[in-house]
Amino acid sequence: MADVVVLGSANMDLVATTDRLPGRGETIAGHTFRQVPGGKGANQAIAAARSGGTVRFAGAVGDDDLGRQILAALGAAGVDTTAVVRADAPTGTAHITVAAGGDNTIVVVPGANGTLTELLPAHAAVIAGADTLLLQLELPLSVVRAAAAHARACGVRTVLTPAPARPLPDELLAAVDLLVPNEHEATIIAGVDDPHQAAAVLARRCDVLMTLGERGAVYATAGAEPVTVPAFPVTAVDTTAAGDTFVGVLASALAAGTAMPDAMRRASAAAALSVQRPGASDSAPTAAQVDAFLG
Ligand code: ADP
Repeated sequence: MADVVVLGSANMDLVATTDRLPGRGETIAGHTFRQVPGGKGANQAIAAARSGGTVRFAGAVGDDDLGRQILAALGAAGVDTTAVVRADAPTGTAHITVAAGGDNTIVVVPGANGTLTELLPAHAAVIAGADTLLLQLELPLSVVRAAAAHARACGVRTVLTPAPARPLPDELLAAVDLLVPNEHEATIIAGVDDPHQAAAVLARRCDVLMTLGERGAVYATAGAEPVTVPAFPVTAVDTTAAGDTFVGVLASALAAGTAMPDAMRRASAAAALSVQRPGASDSAPTAAQVDAFLG
């Protein structure tokens, strides 16, 4: 039985660095190229497993080299990949250009991820055996809704990272136990400009843990004062996947029975460690590293 099941996207990030972003129709020379497993689903699964959780990834890759590399990376982090489907479509890719100074463009080709339009029996079975289900919005919304409804029926806690941001159907929010938006996502989902007001609006529907970047995170529940956990003061070099590391580590702590304030502290520590290193999923710390950081 896996404590945490992640139903979500797996992409290969294809990252080129340049002096500047190319103009329309323009070809420019890049400096470096690297290929790193990504996708919010895979990132969260890797962060949860590295932090010590028993984690299973439910998703889809193509029957191709990129898919095999993603499965190998998940496996190396300790994630069980036996429920991953080999789709009749290429592995999802994210084509990323990063200019000096940090400006970037990203084109995501969902590929295999986009074939998951309904909840497959193999994925339903692993969700039923989990303590906590992690969902994001990089798979078709139909499967996200079906998975949340199934988890609710099975008594499995569902944590949704609503990214990329979009308005959410009521029945999806009703099936979610904990929503973990960043400030931008909270305002879009709530349809309210002020993030803290947005969190209060959303907390009438389900518990909300809104991340605030270097200002930490705030936990808002109906009928209680919001609880803020500050971020750890560190020098960030790359905040890619900070939110995914935060959620993955939070889920493995909650699944291990840790109370919310302590789980938030552990997630903040892991995210603080990850932003001090370049990279995305590959920058998530181990449980021992988090323990050492927390002293
Ligand atoms: P996302 O990556 O989804 O936009 P945030 O930027 O809100 O999410 O970051 C998620 C969490 O990562 C924060 O709540 C915080 O704990 C941690 N974090 C992010 N940026 C920093 C930073 N510069 N310094 C320390 N911790 C950070």
